[in-house]
Amino acid sequence: MYVSPELDKRLAALQVPSAAVIDGKLVQALDGATFDVISPRNGALLSKAPACGVQDVDRAVAAARAAFEDGRWRAQAPRDKKAVMLRLAELMEAHIDELALLESLDSGKPIGDARGVDMRLAIQSVRWYAEALDKVYGEVGPSPDSRFSYAVHEPLGVIGAITPWNFPLHMAMWKVAPALAMGNSVVLKPAEQAPLSCMRVAELALEAGLPPGVFNVVTGFGVPAGEALARHMDVDMIAFTGSGGVGRALMKYSGESNLKRVSLELGGKSPQIVFDDCPDLQAAAEAAAWGVFFNQGEVCTSASRLLVQETIKDRFIDMVVEVARTIQVGDPLDPATRYGAMISERQMQTALRFIDETRAAGLEPRLGGNRVMAETGGFYVEPTIFENVKPDSLLAREEVFGPVLGVMTFKTADEALRLANDTIYGLASGLWTADLDRAMTMAKRLRAGLVWVNGWDACDITMPFGGFKQSGFGRDRSLHALHKYADLKSVSFTLRAS
Ligand code: NAD
Repeated sequence: MYVSPELDKRLAALQVPSAAVIDGKLVQALDGATFDVISPRNGALLSKAPACGVQDVDRAVAAARAAFEDGRWRAQAPRDKKAVMLRLAELMEAHIDELALLESLDSGKPIGDARGVDMRLAIQSVRWYAEALDKVYGEVGPSPDSRFSYAVHEPLGVIGAITPWNFPLHMAMWKVAPALAMGNSVVLKPAEQAPLSCMRVAELALEAGLPPGVFNVVTGFGVPAGEALARHMDVDMIAFTGSGGVGRALMKYSGESNLKRVSLELGGKSPQIVFDDCPDLQAAAEAAAWGVFFNQGEVCTSASRLLVQETIKDRFIDMVVEVARTIQVGDPLDPATRYGAMISERQMQTALRFIDETRAAGLEPRLGGNRVMAETGGFYVEPTIFENVKPDSLLAREEVFGPVLGVMTFKTADEALRLANDTIYGLASGLWTADLDRAMTMAKRLRAGLVWVNGWDACDITMPFGGFKQSGFGRDRSLHALHKYADLKSVSFTLRAS
């Protein structure tokens, strides 16, 4: 493992959060229950976090509701809300090294990514929605002289955000920032596997001047804490990122409680399609490898299916393997590491099971295929590539959420399109071609919420993010996300002639 006196000093000075944040106070669960927060880097105990239960969720929702009703945040002038959110972004920036260290320890991701990707993008979300919040206008409707009508965007009330562990703070801020910007109160239930950065940012939000009760963090498990939030009669909306199974449960909870809105960002089995006229094969090879191995494959838009035109198959796969060989598994806390540990023993076993079952079906990995660095006590799996994957195989159809790439080939654009769309998911898709007509036609016909041409993941907070089909509905990022956390109210005045 990486050894450095500088790192030892930083670890010794690190204050690891151990409290939920409810009504502006750092609290423990009412029954005193806790759960172990484990580092996937080496299996070490990082913190004992409150295992919040139904009663804790009740008091967080009550605090959020009270804050919403008395207008301590909702009714503030837009410029004042903006100033508080910008202060939060500044505080996050000032604490970026601490937050990145927490995130890397807690999730196993490389410290360089935690700082340069996760924290940078989380801060960007807070800043972007702070800047946007005083630019949300209503509209005046066409009316006869005897009437005056207008429509306004009003906050929904109490938002429950339930978030995943793969980009713990970044995903949380995709939801919390626009929800707060619209004037809502928020109760966040971060993933139990990696809650620390969210706990810390809730403290920073208080320091930034966000009034108590406006942003609450309840730590704990999906059941009971997440379920209690999603069944709560006083929660107006659940904003979720995670698995399809939990997405289904959330819609059921909504139907069985108060018909709260639900927005779902679920998984994918995203294809990357490479034609033989690809304008830059080396760039495509880099994108094919990093598209699936970035963040150890724990990415909802992971490019886990590579579709290569038969004419360039051997040459291109060699190039992808060459790039993937340079991705060395390493200690997440080593600044040189670009590929770290998987989130948990369970997620590692899931990835290994996909590898075993693909082997059992007769394929040997072209690269990788093993757990490594087991002696550290951490959860590390090599970047793994299988060629000649059958379209109806487990690896071609199910989301691994781990570092396993399945390669398939095609002859024609129609066949590529059919293979690409042959999935229950529809999150991201990519294609590499120099033929503009083909690119435009395919972009129209790919059934996915995100289409990237001659690049992978080439967009940012200015563009909506979300899926088609069983990848969910509702959009994060962009101004569309602001409107997700608002209701549209039409007001009409009948005017008496004077
Ligand atoms: P999950 O869906 O079980 O967990 C996501 C969040 O939902 C967590 O905060 C969890 O505590 C909460 N939750 C779990 N059960 C709940 C319930 N009954 N009611 C309310 N909240 C509940 O995801 P996971 O187990 O951490 O990962 C499993 C799979 O989910 C992964 O293998 C992957 O396929 C998918 N996933 C997708 C994303 C994404 O970005 N789309 C992120 C993480 C995981």
